[in-house]
Amino acid sequence: MSQESKREHAAYMREWNRKNYTRCRPLWTQKQRNYAKKHPLKTKAHYIVGNAVRDGRLIRPSKCERCGKSCVPHAHHKDYRRPLVVTWLCRACHFEIHGSTLWADTVSRKRPERLYTHNGETHNLKEWARIVGLKCTTLTGRVLAYGWSFQRAISEKTWNRGQ
Ligand SMILES: [Zn+2]
Repeated sequence: MSQESKREHAAYMREWNRKNYTRCRPLWTQKQRNYAKKHPLKTKAHYIVGNAVRDGRLIRPSKCERCGKSCVPHAHHKDYRRPLVVTWLCRACHFEIHGSTLWADTVSRKRPERLYTHNGETHNLKEWARIVGLKCTTLTGRVLAYGWSFQRAISEKTWNRGQ
């Protein structure tokens, strides 16, 4: 990505976030809650590190402890029961150490995907969104965050005007 397109993309995302914040907030907070419920120790450890860094009890270095790259490193926990024992790692090293497990909830989606059947056709939400002409985020938000029935989620028109 060129610098210019990066800047354009950043501006686009800022605008998108501003427009969609209120609408998407329930989805995000629900996701966070689910995540915190599923990984209580991990979530607590992250809060403790965040507070410790804020209060100056833990100093975040300016480079990765593993590869030495200058960055704003992540706090990596070997043991979530010892939240203040951390290794500071760049994103790439952190990713490498955790492999797919770290981002399993957000990126790699190792879990089997839920499929939905309608009129004899079976697809995942992403495919359904394309088929019925909704944005993927709209459809997943309706079904997963708002708890609409699948039937209603694909039938109701989007409330975005001027598309
Ligand atoms: Zn590194």
